[in-house]
Amino acid sequence: MPVPVPAAGQVLVRLEASGICHTDIHAANGDWPVKPTPPFVPGHEGVGVIDAVGRGIDPARVGTRVAVPWLGHACGECSYCVSGWETLCEQQRNTGYSVDGCYAEHTVADARYAVPVPDGVSSMDAAPLTCAGVTTYKAVKVAAVRSAERVAVFGIGGLGHLALQYARIAGGFTVAVDVEDDKLALARDLGADHTVNARATDPVAAIAELGGVDVAIATAASPRSFEQAFASLRRGGRLVCVGLPADGVLPVPVFDLVLKGITVVGSIVGTRQDLAEVFACTPPAAPGSSPSPASSTTSTAPSPKS
Ligand SMILES: [Zn+2]
Ligand SMILES: [Zn+2]
Repeated sequence: MPVPVPAAGQVLVRLEASGICHTDIHAANGDWPVKPTPPFVPGHEGVGVIDAVGRGIDPARVGTRVAVPWLGHACGECSYCVSGWETLCEQQRNTGYSVDGCYAEHTVADARYAVPVPDGVSSMDAAPLTCAGVTTYKAVKVAAVRSAERVAVFGIGGLGHLALQYARIAGGFTVAVDVEDDKLALARDLGADHTVNARATDPVAAIAELGGVDVAIATAASPRSFEQAFASLRRGGRLVCVGLPADGVLPVPVFDLVLKGITVVGSIVGTRQDLAEVFACTPPAAPGSSPSPASSTTSTAPSPKS
């Protein structure tokens, strides 16, 4: 691919790191009803340095680092955009899907939607946070987790292991649910207060013994885990659906929904402000953990389960 030339309002980004999201696999396979048009460049967890700017962009931005997320462009004027829900804009363009993305040495991005990366956060850390991080941070935000609430995270994969950490940052007590012991060991390392192996134990019964959870965040690919997440809620509970099981259907018992005052909500990625907040609560990289400037492209591969 030739190095793209930034148009008016765009920046040219020289990529330093690019994460892998399960959406990239779906894009490459053409799994979803709205398909990208080949040839295209996937990748929407790109982090790099601005090499050049198009017309109308302050040249002082050259040399600064930015993240290039899934929300590559929104109209900025519709009812969603002006009310803080640019992630729902019907005119949005998606990086690595409807516009070329970050699995390349260079990409161009709408300057308004390229989010600055603070100096303390390495490009390697920032890359997966640009989709998996902001997605799970937003899920915790949408759930309005309050301190001392109990939060269950179903699926401790690329999304869930981050959701667990954001739930703790928000002050929640956490319950990690997965079917793999090594994922549950990771959850304990990350500070989970309880872990449940859903292959060995019924997670609904195990969580009921704790008194139920105020919030359940469903990140796993199994439709059954969504039902279990719903059934784990105590009165006033909130189920946030993040994972995308293929052909998934969530049967909701209306009687429980009404009498227990339960909320079920879907959450998709996050806004530029959400991503800035993600970077703000990311601890500085340990010395020596950032990629050397000589390595032009590096990839990180969290294990996506959605
Ligand atoms: Zn993604
Ligand atoms: Zn819009």
